[in-house]
Amino acid sequence: MSYVKGLKCRECGREYPKNPIYVCEFCFGPLEVVYDYDAIKKVISKENISSRPKNLWRYRELLPIDGEPSSGLNSGFSPLFKAERLGKELGVKELYIKDDSTVHPTLSFKDRVVAVALTKAKEFGFDTVACASTGNLANSVAAQAAASGLKGFIFIPSNLESSKVIGSLIYGPNVIAVDGNYDEVNRLCSEIANRYNWAFVNINIRPFYAEGSKTQVYEILEQLGWKAPKHIIVPCAGGSLITKIWKGLKEFYSLGFIDEMKTRVYAAQAEGCSPIVTAIKENSEIIKPVKPVTIAKSLAIGNPADGYYAVKTTKESGGYGESSTDEEIIQAIKLLAGTEGIFTETAGGVTLSATKKLIESGRIPKDESIVICITGNGLKTQEAVAEHINRPYRIKPNMGSFEECLKKISR
Ligand SMILES: *Cc1c(COP(=O)(O)O)cnc(C)c1O
Ligand SMILES: [Zn+2]
Repeated sequence: MSYVKGLKCRECGREYPKNPIYVCEFCFGPLEVVYDYDAIKKVISKENISSRPKNLWRYRELLPIDGEPSSGLNSGFSPLFKAERLGKELGVKELYIKDDSTVHPTLSFKDRVVAVALTKAKEFGFDTVACASTGNLANSVAAQAAASGLKGFIFIPSNLESSKVIGSLIYGPNVIAVDGNYDEVNRLCSEIANRYNWAFVNINIRPFYAEGSKTQVYEILEQLGWKAPKHIIVPCAGGSLITKIWKGLKEFYSLGFIDEMKTRVYAAQAEGCSPIVTAIKENSEIIKPVKPVTIAKSLAIGNPADGYYAVKTTKESGGYGESSTDEEIIQAIKLLAGTEGIFTETAGGVTLSATKKLIESGRIPKDESIVICITGNGLKTQEAVAEHINRPYRIKPNMGSFEECLKKISR
């Protein structure tokens, strides 16, 4: 059973059938999935969603597939919890962490979008899936393609962290490392997508792929007891996640699943690649592309496809944007680890550091509910922190050596 009416241009409103297409032929605007909400309203309720298995497919009617899900069957429903110790550190009363560094199978929020994209790619009849990736998408497409019996072509910039490269190669896809930054990889992939009949998850089936991001905010709202927080801070690369968080909020409000929607959505980027945050701060809707220079490689997209909509989202919601230096990113990774026992990747450091600044500057009041989206796992970007942590104490295997060492520790 499908509740998808078709695709619609975000700019001129022209409608298209459900096909693997992504731009409007008339105005080149991006296409978006349109649902039959009246039909959806009749079949889902808070109660029946709550009774379903704890994975992202519990929101299936609000996802753009026609048949049964075939990928990411255990993805989603990551923990959301109150971060007491970190909250105290930041001086705020009600701080929550949505921890997508634990998402099955590849430990980032990208497993959500790929679950939807690969299910859709199979429905369209593709036998090969592909992506242009800053790392996490590569891992997820590689893993889920293997599990779905699809062939994979993974395109990445050649300077990625080794754990992200190994974390793609292990599943056996074709990994193509391109000597260039993400924006150059993406441009090449757009050309390849025109020539080969492959499902590029973030190019020709992007409208369907992007919908998977909504499940992150659906879960946040459900896990808060069907209530919306006042503030959500979201890391931005291409700007898709933040726009879909806003769409998901609006959908749950119009379905009556939350009573009010006064949530402000904030964009977080690294200072070395902050085209979205720069536009927000300059109160402009024009994204000026940049050449990324940052340790936050997963967010290093200099010319974000959904940048314009990301800026609009923060404006419409009353939110804002903030960026962080590499040094601040590292400090924030250590702060989250040391207060909450969570090792996040560089993107998580960006988000926490931006949150800290937004609180310190008074943009986010200290007595209102705040959710931080932690989207990736620190084990994948170990080189970013390796030189900024202590070494182990080294001793001989005897009591004397240990007590010698202990003297130094307590000194
Ligand atoms: C891809 C990614 C994001 C943001 O993605 P968008 O392109 O803005 O949707 C955030 N965090 C991590 C860890 C990512 O890999
Ligand atoms: Zn159009």
